[in-house]
Amino acid sequence: MLVSENISEIRKRRWLKNGETWGLVPTMGFLHKGHLSLVRQAQQENDAVCVSIFVNPIQFNRKQDFDTYPVDMKKDLALLEKEGVDLVWTPKADQLYPRNFQTYVDVTQITQFLEGAARPGHFRGVTTIVAILFNVFQPTRAYFGQKDAQQVAVIRRMVEDLLFNLTIKTCPTMREADGLAMSSRNTNLTEDAREQAPVLYQTLAEARRLMEEGEESAVKIKQFMQEKIEQTSLALIDYISVADPVTLQELETIQGEALISLAVFFGEVRLIDNVVFSRNTQ
Ligand code: AMP
Repeated sequence: MLVSENISEIRKRRWLKNGETWGLVPTMGFLHKGHLSLVRQAQQENDAVCVSIFVNPIQFNRKQDFDTYPVDMKKDLALLEKEGVDLVWTPKADQLYPRNFQTYVDVTQITQFLEGAARPGHFRGVTTIVAILFNVFQPTRAYFGQKDAQQVAVIRRMVEDLLFNLTIKTCPTMREADGLAMSSRNTNLTEDAREQAPVLYQTLAEARRLMEEGEESAVKIKQFMQEKIEQTSLALIDYISVADPVTLQELETIQGEALISLAVFFGEVRLIDNVVFSRNTQ
């Protein structure tokens, strides 16, 4: 496994063998089984796999969140070595964003809702870094988690609009035994908050069940979700949403598909999660 922060070295390895297909898994490190599931899917579908590890400063809208974002490069590299990853790219902020940096990628519409509304500037940071990674590495396929549903939608939009020559793959959300979506940020939860956090997935799953049983009013579903989460003493709701999975606009009536998503604070830790409802699969 080659580990490098050097862009020329990364490019050289990428193009070493003619015709070799590459999967890229962009991450911010502190890896867990969710990340590793992306790596495994990438390995199944490509000749070789590159994982990038970079805590991207420009996608954080809260300094506290950036400052406390967990890091354990040694453990990450050991995990990736064990998985048989070919290349790990560990860029540094001053390489990617030199002093005179002034070029950003901005997806303008679907970034207005949900995470985009709650975290101003977040998606501009995400699309800018992902565009840089794609531009340098030119993967055959790139892998993202459904856990960050809006992120994948935004990146798919960017790839289509800017004609990046690669395929975006979305992988299912990996969960702890009690349903909590795996996240690097879970490590920052207090013991009490960790105990309460599974309420998020429980609420999402129950909301989906209500829809499966025929509830069509998004307002009623959201009211149910709010009441359930408010019963949890440490949870502070940022948003609860029932939206069209493509446009991400809030729905009034649930007819076909719906993205049920939420963002909730437990102290300083902000967790997000989502499930998709589809009437056609009933
Ligand atoms: P992050 O390191 O949080 O930026 O995540 C890197 C990639 O892993 C993103 O595409 C995430 O959507 C994905 N990811 C994060 N958590 C999970 C999870 N629990 N299951 C599947 N994928 C995940």
